[in-house]
Amino acid sequence: MNLFDDILQESDDEINASFLGLLNQYLPTYTFGILLNTGGVVGSLSGSLADTGLADQLRQTVDSGQVLTGPNGPLLSLSLQDMNSVIVCEIPQALDPTTAFAMTRDIINLCKNLHKKERLLSEEKALLAAHKEQRDRRIRVLEKKYQDILAQNQTQSAEYSKLLKSEIQNRTSELEQSNKELAQAKERAEAANIAKDQFLANMSHEIRTPMNGVIGMVELLLGTSLTEEQRHFTMLMKNSSNALLNVINDILDYSKIEAGKLDIEEIEFNLRQVIEELSDIISISLFEKGLFFAGIFEADVPVMLKGDPVRLRQIIMNFCGNAVKFTRQGGVVLQVGLESKTSFGVQLKFSVTDTGIGIPTDRISGLFQSFSQVDASMTRQYGGTGLGLAICKQLTEMMGGKVGVSSQENKGSTFWCKIEFKQQDKGDPIPDVSLEQDAMILIADANPAARQVLIEYIKPLGYPFQEACDIIDACSKILSARQSDTPFSYVFFDQDLPGIPSTDLVEAAAETCDISDTTFVRLAFLGRQNHQQSNAPHPRIINLNKPVKYADFIGCLSSPDSLINMQTQGNTQRMQADSDTFKLTCSCRLLLAEDDEMNRIVAENLLKKMNIADIQIAENGQEALDLFKAGQFDLILMDGQMP
Ligand code: ADP
Repeated sequence: MNLFDDILQESDDEINASFLGLLNQYLPTYTFGILLNTGGVVGSLSGSLADTGLADQLRQTVDSGQVLTGPNGPLLSLSLQDMNSVIVCEIPQALDPTTAFAMTRDIINLCKNLHKKERLLSEEKALLAAHKEQRDRRIRVLEKKYQDILAQNQTQSAEYSKLLKSEIQNRTSELEQSNKELAQAKERAEAANIAKDQFLANMSHEIRTPMNGVIGMVELLLGTSLTEEQRHFTMLMKNSSNALLNVINDILDYSKIEAGKLDIEEIEFNLRQVIEELSDIISISLFEKGLFFAGIFEADVPVMLKGDPVRLRQIIMNFCGNAVKFTRQGGVVLQVGLESKTSFGVQLKFSVTDTGIGIPTDRISGLFQSFSQVDASMTRQYGGTGLGLAICKQLTEMMGGKVGVSSQENKGSTFWCKIEFKQQDKGDPIPDVSLEQDAMILIADANPAARQVLIEYIKPLGYPFQEACDIIDACSKILSARQSDTPFSYVFFDQDLPGIPSTDLVEAAAETCDISDTTFVRLAFLGRQNHQQSNAPHPRIINLNKPVKYADFIGCLSSPDSLINMQTQGNTQRMQADSDTFKLTCSCRLLLAEDDEMNRIVAENLLKKMNIADIQIAENGQEALDLFKAGQFDLILMDGQMP
């Protein structure tokens, strides 16, 4: 394709003129003209070539190397095919025409190429400029769009931030308002809480004080001479008062725990003593119902502990109270065992097992929730608030422990709690027993749990022992021990050991073999002792109360003779501590500070019963202080909340 086609069509003259300009630049001494295909002529030779005859001749001799003679000198012609024209050149006359032709042709060709390139270059430049212009235009368009969007955004965000600001202002003022209300509510709640705590403390005092007064008065009344009917009514009054006091105590304790006002103490205490005191109380109520009781204190349980004995007692009392309440035959066993030794101290397990009504499986899970009773008719039949177990659970958890239960309907239940205690630095006391190491001991009781109580006492001492469950079994063991020349040093036996009616074990054993060097320890529940001695008098009999206290058991082994002497002299006071018969033998000056009149009367009467006659009474705190300053007192009994 001819590169110049389109250009020629558009502007022949212009192109040819510029081409001529180029030739003149390189061949300044030459004169050129161009014969256009259209018939026209351009360039400085145009005048000379107006003579068409010459122009035709030049066209005919084009590229032939032939030189024609023009008006001003020799002329030659060369074709410019690319430009559809013929170039005519006037050559200097001094030049050889052939050389001039060859040289001119070459130069013209060179100029043609140059021209072509210049054209291309300028075209590219134009194209580039066009591109640049196009790009700039696009950038300007984009910039404009961007500016528009920016402007739009700014307007929008200004609107949004205005909106946001007002929203924040609204919310802030709402928040401030609700904060204010909350602060006021908190203040009111705190004030109400303080008032509630105060009320609780007051109520606790206000309710318990008259209740104690009522119960004390009833006790005093029972100590006076009453007709059978009056005594019966008074007993009913006493039972109802005690039941009411229990309910009140439960409710007050529960509210205290709920209010976070109940603190757990950590004081040094003797666990055995706590369990023995509990056992005494429980065994009395069980005995009244004709049921048995055993308190098994396992041998490896440490005794000297640190913790809260009052709360522990409350938990076990509740388990035992329920066990007594829901058991009609059989009995109750309280067992204390060592669960594990921990870095903290020891974890102990306290379990109370009864042979009572049991609990249906589907009712067990909710038992430790407040106000939960297995069925509503229970309240009517057995009484109770449904709070006791919930209190136990909360108290145990406050001491870092847990509670649990297993039960079978109509067979019985076991309620337990596991609690950790620290041990005291001083450790447990070691009993001093001066009995030969091979001394044999027989434990005769129909109840395996009762036998276990004593076995746990014997275990750490290391004495060999045997068990018997009735008189016949016991006698046969006594006999075979005698026959093998290892008679029992001690026979601990239940006063009501079954086997031979209206015969006790000492009598039966005396008929079986020689028992002269055996000490018999007769065990009976407090108030149930058969004071008549055995039909066959035996010099070595000691009477002990059930549940058998550890100290009494050790006392039997370490100094049996002094016990026998004391008891044969009828001095059974130490063995049968009975508060009704307690009398103070020394003189004692006492200050009684109590604002409640009824309590004053009860206390005064009880003190008088104990032979204390020198009693001063203060009815308020000031009076108590004045009396205290004025007189020397051995003892002050005072109400904790005196006006
Ligand atoms: P309550 O004052 O009613 O005895 P508790 O929380 O101590 O309250 O006991 C809740 C309920 O759990 C009792 O009402 C009874 O239904 C059941 N319960 C507790 N202990 C025993 C038990 N030893 N044998 C059978 N049921 C028991």
